[in-house]
Amino acid sequence: MSVPSSNTAPITQDVLTIPRKLPDGPLNLVGLTREALREALIAHGTPEKQAKMRAGQIWQWIYQWGVRDFDAMTNLSKAYRSDLARQFVVEIPEVVSKQVSSDGTRKYLVRIAGGHEVEVVYIPETDRGTLCISSQVGCTLTCSFCHTGTQKLVRNLTAGEIVGQIMVARDDLNEWPVPGAPNVETRLLSNIVLMGMGEPLYNFENVRDAMKIAMDPEGIQLSRRRITLSTSGVVPEIHRTAAEIGCMLAVSFHATTDEVRDRLVPINKKWNIETLLDALRAYPKVSNSERITFEYVMLNGINDTDEDAHRLMKLIEGIPAKINLIPFNEWPGAPYKRSSNNRIRAFADIVHRAGYASPIRTPRGEDIMAACGQLKSATERARKSRRQIEAETGQG
Ligand code: SAH
Ligand code: SF4
Repeated sequence: MSVPSSNTAPITQDVLTIPRKLPDGPLNLVGLTREALREALIAHGTPEKQAKMRAGQIWQWIYQWGVRDFDAMTNLSKAYRSDLARQFVVEIPEVVSKQVSSDGTRKYLVRIAGGHEVEVVYIPETDRGTLCISSQVGCTLTCSFCHTGTQKLVRNLTAGEIVGQIMVARDDLNEWPVPGAPNVETRLLSNIVLMGMGEPLYNFENVRDAMKIAMDPEGIQLSRRRITLSTSGVVPEIHRTAAEIGCMLAVSFHATTDEVRDRLVPINKKWNIETLLDALRAYPKVSNSERITFEYVMLNGINDTDEDAHRLMKLIEGIPAKINLIPFNEWPGAPYKRSSNNRIRAFADIVHRAGYASPIRTPRGEDIMAACGQLKSATERARKSRRQIEAETGQG
C-alpha cells in the first residue's frame, strides 16, 4: 500500500447497489455471537431445547458455506425456514465499487447502515493473502501523520459490519468452500489485519465478537495467529485483547521519546512510552503469541535518525518483537515528508543488526489509492475533485 497517484487510471468495476433495510427491520444474524444467536432464536419462538442445535446449523450455513438465503438451509424444515425468513436477515455490507490494482491489490468501497462508507483492501502475496479491515468510520484520535485522524469519528462499526468485510472479500474471491470438495491448503484470504480506519481498541466488544466469529472452527476458521490487531496504544484494553481475543498485536510506536510521540500519536499524553511498554511486555505471555509487531512510520527528519534506531532497540529490549518500517504515505497538506530510501535502509540495518526482523513495508495498490492512513479519505477526495470539476465546467 502506498501513495496515491491521481494520473493512473485504475480498472474500476461499479457494482449495483440495493437500498439497505431500515434499522427497525428484521434482525441481522451476521455478527451475533453463538450465544446471542441462540438467544435471538429463542426470543423469536424457537423452543429452548432445540435452540443450541438450530443455532449451530444456521451458524454453519452462514460462516462455513457463505449461505445468506434461509431457503437454501436444507437441513432445516421448510416451515422453520420460512419462519426464519420472516424474522431475520443474513446481511453483509454492500459493495459500492471495486478497484483492482495492476499488482493485484483489490480495494472495495462498502456501504454500511446510515449510508456510511468504509474501504477494505485485499493484498495478495505469494504465500498468503491479507485483508485490511476497518473498525470505525473515522477515528477519535488525531495522529498528526494520519489522514484518517483528520476525519471526525462518525461511528463504531458493529460486529456484523466488521466480520461482514471478511465475507464481502470471500464472496469476491469466490472462496466459500463447496460441500464435498477437498480442503484447499493455501487460502486466497489467509490473514486479517485490523489496520484500516479507526482505533480497534476503542470499539473493543464489536472487534472481539467479530474476530471470535472469524476464528470459530465451524466457520471462516482463521487461526488467531493470522489475525493482527493494530493499536495506537490504548493501554487499558491491551490486557483484554490478549485474554479475550488472543490475536497477534501490532502497535503504532512511531517514536522513541515521549516528546516526539506526544506530537505524532497524541494518545501518548495519556499513556506514555513506559506505560505502553509495560503493557506490551505482558502481552505475549497472556495471549500465548510469539511476538509483537512495532509499526514505525518513517518521517523525514522527525523520527528517522540512527540515534532513534538505537534508542528504539534499548526501549524494546526483552520484548519478542518485529519492527515493521512503514515509508510514510504522503497526502495533500500532510505536515511531513517520507524519509529517503537510504535513510530507511540505514535504520533497518541497525534494527536488523540488533537481532530483530525489520521488514520495510512495500507499497501496494499504488494506482488505486489503497494506502495506510488514507482509506476512505482518498475516495472522498476523488469525489470532491469530481464535484469540483463538474462545478467548474457547469456539468453534473
Ligand atoms: N488505529 C490503529 C490502526 C489503523 S492505522 C493504529 O493507529 O494502529 C494502521 C497503521 O497505519 C498504523 O500503524 C498507522 O500509524 C499507520 N499509518 C497511518 N497513516 C499513515 C500514513 N500516512 N503513512 C504510513 N502509515 C500510516
Ligand atoms: Fe486513528 Fe490509527 Fe490514524 Fe491514529 S493512526 S488517527 S489511531 S487510525
